[in-house]
Amino acid sequence: MTARILDGNAIRNQIYAELAQEIASLRDAGIRPGLAAVLVGENPASQLYVKSKIAACEKLGLGSSLITPPASITTAELLAVVDDLNRKNDVDGILVQMPLPSQVDAKKILDAVTPEKDVDGFHPINVGRLVAGRPNLVACTPLGVMEIFRRSGIPLEGANAVVMGRSDIVGKPMALLLIHANATVTVCHSKTRDLKDVVRRADIVVVAMGRAAMVTTDYIRPGATVIDVGQNVITDAAQAERIFAKFPEKIESFRKKGSVLVGDVHPDVIEVAGAFTPVPGGVGPLTIAMLMSNTVKAARLRRGGTANSAAAAVR
Ligand code: NAP
Repeated sequence: MTARILDGNAIRNQIYAELAQEIASLRDAGIRPGLAAVLVGENPASQLYVKSKIAACEKLGLGSSLITPPASITTAELLAVVDDLNRKNDVDGILVQMPLPSQVDAKKILDAVTPEKDVDGFHPINVGRLVAGRPNLVACTPLGVMEIFRRSGIPLEGANAVVMGRSDIVGKPMALLLIHANATVTVCHSKTRDLKDVVRRADIVVVAMGRAAMVTTDYIRPGATVIDVGQNVITDAAQAERIFAKFPEKIESFRKKGSVLVGDVHPDVIEVAGAFTPVPGGVGPLTIAMLMSNTVKAARLRRGGTANSAAAAVR
């Protein structure tokens, strides 16, 4: 058996096509949704993430601005930056790229973003709304996973779903979204006993642990849907050869580039799962797509006025 591949790039393209219509109807009402990204310091991975978020704004015709304070910034100074963005009417979404330097109180900064512009869905008000079943702006990665389920026709109602990982940005909001979709949800973490047995009972497994290829075929009930959120860069040749023993093209690519991206799910799981998100090209493209979607939604809710009904009809 070989799993059906859930193609994140194709789903992202569908979402972009729908967003383009909504952006056009907002434009007719004189509104151009805008995202402001705050990138502190010069972390290369963060620079890359923010660059692709700005590129997505440009592709869709959204406004974007990039604020790049130095790594030496204080909490008070960064709070002033956020406050300024909170007040700007043409900024609908504020994104503070994590991680922040250690001298900055990251919680204080995230709490300072006004909930109406919190397109990452990290503010306690937005988390609380999700818990209460009245979601507004929801964390992008789990929201993207829900789009994969919906658009791939994977039934959730009554399904046994296991979420591996309980982080604030992926595992917890993922579990809440699945609960609201009527799945029966188990959340696993580093202290879970008999992890393999728990996961093997699942119809649906969402993995977000940051552990390269840890979920091997023996964790997976044949036919289960497996969503791999993990993104791990491997630079060790022996490890790459072990993980990708059945995928010579990946080993070849490793030899050329000196690194390879691997999820938290072992690639051999494709032999037992019913459906499977690849890494790359699975969940990753959806995270940015949902950031764009949240920015458009934030614009519509905050300043949509008469555009609200027309735009809502598109969604
Ligand atoms: P995180 O904050 O480090 O959380 C990891 C979670 O996994 C924790 O709850 C931890 O348990 C659990 N865990 C770690 N090792 C485990 C083990 N051996 N057995 C069982 N549970 C274990 O990570 P995150 O921010 O959620 O990210 C997870 C992964 O997703 C990373 O690879 C990250 O790069 C990736 N990611 C991808 C996207 C995307 O767009 N594709 C977006 C966000 C994150 P404890 O709570 O007990 O410590």
